[in-house]
Amino acid sequence: MVIVMKPASNQTEIDEVSKVLESLGLGIHISKGAERTIIGVIGDKRLLNDVPLELMSGVEKLVPIAESYKLAGKTFRPEPSVIDVGGVKIGGKGIVLMAGPCAVESREQILEAAHAVKKSGAQILRGGAYKPRTSPYAFQGLEEEGLKYLKEAKDETGLLLITEVTSEKAIESAASFVDMFQVGARNVQNFQLLREIGRSMKPVLFKRGPSTTIDEWLNAAEYIMNEGNYNVILCERGIRTFETATRNTLDISTVPVVKSLSHLPVFIDPSHAAGKSQYVAALSKAAIAAGADGLIIEVHPNPKCALSDAAQQLTPSAFDDLCKDISKIAEILGREFKYGG
Ligand code: PEP
Ligand code: MN
Repeated sequence: MVIVMKPASNQTEIDEVSKVLESLGLGIHISKGAERTIIGVIGDKRLLNDVPLELMSGVEKLVPIAESYKLAGKTFRPEPSVIDVGGVKIGGKGIVLMAGPCAVESREQILEAAHAVKKSGAQILRGGAYKPRTSPYAFQGLEEEGLKYLKEAKDETGLLLITEVTSEKAIESAASFVDMFQVGARNVQNFQLLREIGRSMKPVLFKRGPSTTIDEWLNAAEYIMNEGNYNVILCERGIRTFETATRNTLDISTVPVVKSLSHLPVFIDPSHAAGKSQYVAALSKAAIAAGADGLIIEVHPNPKCALSDAAQQLTPSAFDDLCKDISKIAEILGREFKYGG
C-alpha cells in the first residue's frame, strides 16, 4: 500500500505518519516527487486495520498496490526516476553510453579502450574484473589488479566506472574504485547478493536474466530497493529462445513494457544480446528508437585477441560510427547525446 500525501503537506505531517507506521513495525519508503510525497508501506497491512491513517493531517488517500513488487512500480513513484551517477544523469533527457571491453585484460588495453570510447561520446567506462564465465577454465578476470587499472583509466580520462560484482567480497573490493555496480544476468535472482548491493547504496545496472520474465525481474529489483537503494537501472541483454543465429534474442519490447510498469530507467546491452559484432549497431539504434535511456556496449582495442566475448566486441572505429548515428536518432527523438563527448 502507499500513502499519498497532499501536495501541500509538510515535513512534520510526513514525519507523523512515518512515526505511526514505524511504531507498528512496518517498513517505510519515501518517494518525494515534483508534486507530492508518497509513502510506501511494506509489511502486513492487517496491522493498519484499526489505524485511521486517512484521517491524519496531510494525508490525501491510501492506495493498494496490486503488484508483488512495490517500490519498482509506478504507484510508488509515478514519474520517471532520474539516477545520478557521479554527476551523470540517467533516465532523464540525456542518452548515456557505457562502453569498454568485456574484461579488463591489462593496463594498456583498458587505457586504450577508455581513451577511444571517451573520444566518441561514452560517459561511463565498463570493464569486468570479476568475470562469471560458463567454464571454470576460462579467463576469470584480473580482480583487484583490474580495478586498479580501471581507476587509472578514470583518472586519465574523467570517465566514470562500472564493473560487475559477483560476490560480497567483490562488492567490498570494488566499492572504493567504481561509481556503479553491474549485476550480471547470471545473478539476477541471487537474492543475498542483491540485498548486499542494496545495502551498498551504490547505483546499479541490473541485468535481466536469460530466462527471467519481466515480472520476476522487477521483483528481483525490489530486493535491492527494499534495502533503501533506489538507484537501480534495468538492463535488457537478450533472453534465451529457440533462435540460435544470435547469442540471445533481444527483447526490444522490454523497453515500452518496463516503462509502462516501472519508473526505473531502462538500458539495453546489444552486445550480449547479439553475440556478434556485426549486429550490434542495428540493435543499438533500435533500442534508442524504442525509448531506451542508454546502452552498455562492449568495445575492445583489438577484438580478435579479446580474452572473453571476442566475437561481439566492437572496434573503436565501429563504436565511433555508431555514436554518430545515435546522436542523429537522439535529435529526432528530442533527446540529447553528444557525439564526441
Ligand atoms: C558482461 O557484461 O560482460 C556480462 C557477463 O553480461 P551478462 O551478465 O549480461 O551475460
Ligand atoms: Mn561480456
